[in-house]
Amino acid sequence: MNEIKDQFPIFKNNPDLIYLDNASTTQKPQRVLDSLVDFYTKYNANVHRGLYPIAEKATDKYEASRKTVAEFIHANPLEIIFTGGTTSGTNAIADSLFKSSLIPENPRVLLSDLEHHSSLLPWQQVPGVQLDYLPVSENFEIDVTKIRDQKYDVVSLSHVSNVTGAILPTNVLSKLRLNNPEIIIILDCAQSIAHLPINVKNLGADFIVFSGHKVYAPTGVGVIWGKKELLERMEPFDVGGGMIRTVTREKTEWAPLPEKFEAGTPPIAEAIALAEGLKFIKDLGFDSIEEHEADLREELIKRFSQIDKVKIYHPTLQTHAIGVVSISVDGIHPHDLAQYLGDKNICLRAGHHCTQILHREVFNISATLRISFGVYNSSQDIGKLIEELENAIKLYS
Ligand code: PMP
Repeated sequence: MNEIKDQFPIFKNNPDLIYLDNASTTQKPQRVLDSLVDFYTKYNANVHRGLYPIAEKATDKYEASRKTVAEFIHANPLEIIFTGGTTSGTNAIADSLFKSSLIPENPRVLLSDLEHHSSLLPWQQVPGVQLDYLPVSENFEIDVTKIRDQKYDVVSLSHVSNVTGAILPTNVLSKLRLNNPEIIIILDCAQSIAHLPINVKNLGADFIVFSGHKVYAPTGVGVIWGKKELLERMEPFDVGGGMIRTVTREKTEWAPLPEKFEAGTPPIAEAIALAEGLKFIKDLGFDSIEEHEADLREELIKRFSQIDKVKIYHPTLQTHAIGVVSISVDGIHPHDLAQYLGDKNICLRAGHHCTQILHREVFNISATLRISFGVYNSSQDIGKLIEELENAIKLYS
């Protein structure tokens, strides 16, 4: 996939850059950058308001982007809400379900020990909430065998872990729905959307959320997909301009979907560029993305397992997982390693990766070093990483 790298100006400007922090954010291809510049230089105007040509073009492009997102996940465009990102999406869903009384008082919410704080904290804020956590197995996956035969009102889980790369077997979701047909299932797809094909028609979720910046598109934009019948029954996340049908002194009638959930000026250029990021992924094709990533994952795990002091927090190679691999090195703090590697132009992440429960309660450490692949990574990147990691280990031992 080396010609892919040429599409990313950041690598032209930084020829020695080895970027292995894609779970944090991805780099942007020229076509995504072009779509941002095009908007601001050719048809910058607000959407759903102006009757002049550039405003009409902005609205058309914005709505076409909603359609592109819908097609990407096999949804109805009316079910696509542009947000600020995954975090604003998870917060908005929890707030709205609560204030719309679509979940009962003192709801029982099922999470897991590997959740990102974004999928977890919004539920801790719901008054009277009763939280249950699925454990993490020895294979670093959510242990779905521990789903108890009991009624939950909400399930909020990561489709893919941002630390271990494990993919949730979504066929278990039907079991939860069997125990309570009214259950609301939310999947955090921040880490799956760029790596796996997603079809909301058979995923088993009621809502999914993701961010633009993890699909080779800009920050500041994200998506909520929700089932139409639920979105129709939900109160808006925010109120203000652009989301009303009529306003009187006493009360307001909301606009239909999806405007009801998009108060104020949306992230227009970013939403248009988000669609361009998805088209970039679609043009590469998930078959080749998955194959490329599986090869890199296998090579990385093999190389890590040859280094004595390295402990790998990633499922076995036979398990379905993406190219996100976290490690610790006996006796050396991950921040020291990340700093050393950073000085060699190797970008990866040290820390708890917004999963303190996973690190503290399951791994019994405060931080790991995480390597996460994107479409531009190569076997050479792995070679350089391993070489410098071995140098760092020698230095700090
Ligand atoms: N969930 C998961 C699994 C993530 O990896 C991330 C980003 N690290 C988020 C949620 C939050 O995404 P954002 O910061 O774009 O809101």
